[in-house]
Amino acid sequence: MIRVTGLVQGVGFRPFIHRLATRHHLHGWVENRNDCVLISVNSNKQIINQFCADLIKQAPAASSIQEISVEKDGAGHFSAFEVRESRDVTNEVTEISPDIAVCEECLADMRNQPHRIGYPLINCSHCGPRFSIIRDLPYDRSQTTMSGFEMCPECQREYSEIKDRRYHAQPVSCNRCGPVYSLDLGGSVTSDPEKILQYVAAALNDGKLLAIKGTGGFHLACDALDPGAVGRLREIKRRNGKPFAVMFRNVDCARAYVRISSREEEVLTSWRRPILLLRKIKACSEGIADGLNRLGVMLPYMPFHHLLFERVDTPALVMTSGNISDEPIAISEPELERRFGRYVDGVVSYNREIHNRIDDSVAAVTGDDLLVMRRARGYAPAPIRTGFVLEGILGTGAELTGSFCIGKGRNAIMSQYTGDLSNAGNFNFYTEAYHRFCRLFRFTPHLVVSDLHPDYMSTRFAEQLSGENPAVRHIRVQHHHAHLASVMLEAGLDEEVIGFSFDGNGLGTDGHGWGGEVMRADFHHFDRLYHFEYMPLPGGDAAVREPWRMGISYLYALTGERVSTLGVPLVHAIGKASIDRVISMIQKGVNVPAVSSAGRLFDAVAAITGLSYTSGYTAQAPMLLESAINESEKGSYLFEINGQQVSFLPLIEGVVGDLQRKTDTGTISARFHNTLVELIIHLSRRIRSQTGLEKVVLAGGSFQNSYLVKKVKEKLAENRFDVYISSMLPVNDQGIAAGQAVLGAHMWKKEKEAHHA
Ligand code: ZN
Ligand code: FE
Repeated sequence: MIRVTGLVQGVGFRPFIHRLATRHHLHGWVENRNDCVLISVNSNKQIINQFCADLIKQAPAASSIQEISVEKDGAGHFSAFEVRESRDVTNEVTEISPDIAVCEECLADMRNQPHRIGYPLINCSHCGPRFSIIRDLPYDRSQTTMSGFEMCPECQREYSEIKDRRYHAQPVSCNRCGPVYSLDLGGSVTSDPEKILQYVAAALNDGKLLAIKGTGGFHLACDALDPGAVGRLREIKRRNGKPFAVMFRNVDCARAYVRISSREEEVLTSWRRPILLLRKIKACSEGIADGLNRLGVMLPYMPFHHLLFERVDTPALVMTSGNISDEPIAISEPELERRFGRYVDGVVSYNREIHNRIDDSVAAVTGDDLLVMRRARGYAPAPIRTGFVLEGILGTGAELTGSFCIGKGRNAIMSQYTGDLSNAGNFNFYTEAYHRFCRLFRFTPHLVVSDLHPDYMSTRFAEQLSGENPAVRHIRVQHHHAHLASVMLEAGLDEEVIGFSFDGNGLGTDGHGWGGEVMRADFHHFDRLYHFEYMPLPGGDAAVREPWRMGISYLYALTGERVSTLGVPLVHAIGKASIDRVISMIQKGVNVPAVSSAGRLFDAVAAITGLSYTSGYTAQAPMLLESAINESEKGSYLFEINGQQVSFLPLIEGVVGDLQRKTDTGTISARFHNTLVELIIHLSRRIRSQTGLEKVVLAGGSFQNSYLVKKVKEKLAENRFDVYISSMLPVNDQGIAAGQAVLGAHMWKKEKEAHHA
């Protein structure tokens, strides 16, 4: 008996086994269980081993095998290889496949198969929607949003024929029986695919804005080379400068605008089809990613996208989430109409309902390493396999980039990205997603783990869950410790490490806002060895939206009341009155929390150099600062270590001096980044000499900065450190939920041991 666990259902696994067994001349059977795929064949050990080796090597692209175990069984005599009906034998759950981009074979079928010529929702057992349409398990058509569509005889035949690529493809459909696209032109609705495509192509060529239903929600689309259209899109999204993602016709078209390494091409063309941040070589239209050195690029992933690019003139379309600023992406026509109905020149939809809302994912490649920054379509809800027992544990995450993580066995299953939870719509999305995960994965929490911050909605959610049920224990863990734990979980590092946890803000155990934290940590505890010097944050949250305030805060700490006399761009731009107001706030100590934040240091330097005075979106100032780097510059500034505190006043002094000497911002930015690299190397060496620790973990949103990560990795490796950063778990606050879960698991275990002792 061969037992295969992992992501092996809903990805064409049984037909694959059938083909493989036939090729190996094996007789027996394969069947789906809830928790695995079971195969029985009668043959000798050597042939079975060869069969298993081929099984691993040739498995369908979207499958992911966790474990194969072979045990002897008294298999009967078989005269053929058959696929048996699915059986539900345990309450354990097989994994749920993420949504899969349309495959090449389906694109070919769309031109050849009589009943699927130009069918814009074509799919097979290797591709198509999965998570977005699933309501419950087992994964069967009746449990998906395809339940209302009855298969025509032809689709039924394909669905039932083991040799067919559409064998048990739950969303299988065609022009005769499947869901259809429709176009609403404000009153008149057409569902003729050719008419729709012609209209859409003509409208986009004309600089119009359209809403187009995607896999996990609506996109707003326009010609990415048309500044007028892009400008109008920006207005209706009410989005201040936040970059738009661009979908290119194909890789070659993208190459005219961005640099693509072979590793990046691999990610870009993978079945997951994330938005990949790529180095710009030429801008698309103004208004897409102004001031940034990277552009978010994706390739067509739905059949409709491919059909559209055959007809539209432009090689590049803006495809941005159909939401206003940071709300959830719209998934239904009424939701879309309410927000954008009046502003778009057409709504293209289809009548297969999206059950699970899910945005496009965002990722980047640094060196050869993939870093997922927004974990959503194509990634969620695939599990992260860990070496730790996480069963029954829920991490509720942080706030700004919401997400939760449930533990099933040794798997950490992250929810899709749910946005800023301080927004009521996002919080509803988050709680709805949670209840759906409970049902889909048969999850019941015994332990909920939240942040320390009492005002995070995720903390309140944890309080509510444990308040409703006294059997549910609630543990709170520190934000930056959880960041480190998230990386350690993915890397399997159950030991003490040197940790750099750099981000915008997270509540510390002393009640202050932390974010420039150097820790010695394992899964049980952390020691805060060093941290960025506490600085006044004038106006609290207002200073997060207005980096100029942080610039003044640093300049005031450096020069006292002489700030207004410094000849730097910030002072000229902001003016004496505002500067004096902020200084007086700092002096009086009114609404000026103390923070040790790396994010705010980036803000201050971006403001002082004149790159960013106000922030239209999270991390805008740090992103502009990174984009400005002159990579040939090797210089750096000074820092000072006073006890546990790292002071950057010498760095600020260096920046001011450079500005007074009219040094260009690219050089200043490089020197600033190089200083942080040197600080990390310096502290790593110092901690190693005191503790013997050699493993360095980088965590927190600041490490989305690819220059910083690349340099730090290089220099740490030169100094013989082992460096770890996350890959499939976002390094930003979305990844925190997984870190919380693993910390909670260890703390809880210790508690129980103490109790029994
Ligand atoms: Zn396919
Ligand atoms: Fe954080």
